Amino acid sequence: MKHELPVLPYAQDALAQVLSERTLDFHYGKHERAYIDNLNKLIDGTEYADMPLEEIVRKSDGAVFNNAAQAWNHLFYFFALSPNASSEPFGELAEAISSQFGSFEAFKEKFEAAGVSLFGSGWVWLSADDSGKLLITQGKNAETPLTVEGLTPLLCFDVWEHAYYLDYQNRRAEYLHHMWDIVDWNVVSGRYEKR
Ligand code: MN
Repeated sequence: MKHELPVLPYAQDALAQVLSERTLDFHYGKHERAYIDNLNKLIDGTEYADMPLEEIVRKSDGAVFNNAAQAWNHLFYFFALSPNASSEPFGELAEAISSQFGSFEAFKEKFEAAGVSLFGSGWVWLSADDSGKLLITQGKNAETPLTVEGLTPLLCFDVWEHAYYLDYQNRRAEYLHHMWDIVDWNVVSGRYEKR
């Protein structure tokens, strides 16, 4: 099974208020494409050749894991963004955020702080456990909560420099702060309700 780069549900310049067309072109069109192309080459003729992407992420290690997890993490990131999404979570997820973090504002601050304090390349994640409890975690490099038994990933912000350097240079905190303007809470709330 050959993995493909899916078409994004928005134009490459649609998020330009936060992420420029040039960033999308490099980040999705080149970095994400390279992870998928590398993965296809690495798994050809191996036990992973016919596995769905999520299963490869859960079962592999080394170079196969790095490329599979990065391929999956990026789809999870890009497909939760939208130029005209509702600006706040709603339903069950909104209730869980308020009850656990005090407020949506307090949650955002904590999430941004986790992204800022991650040393080097990686991701900041919001996940839910089996009881619906929310967790903010950092992942180095390609690490993903998909490999953690009992966790359902809900939202991630990419904090590799390639995610923000063209638009924000070294200002990672500013990038993270602006990302809220393009999070599609329909997608994220749906992930929480389906867990
Ligand atoms: Mn990236």
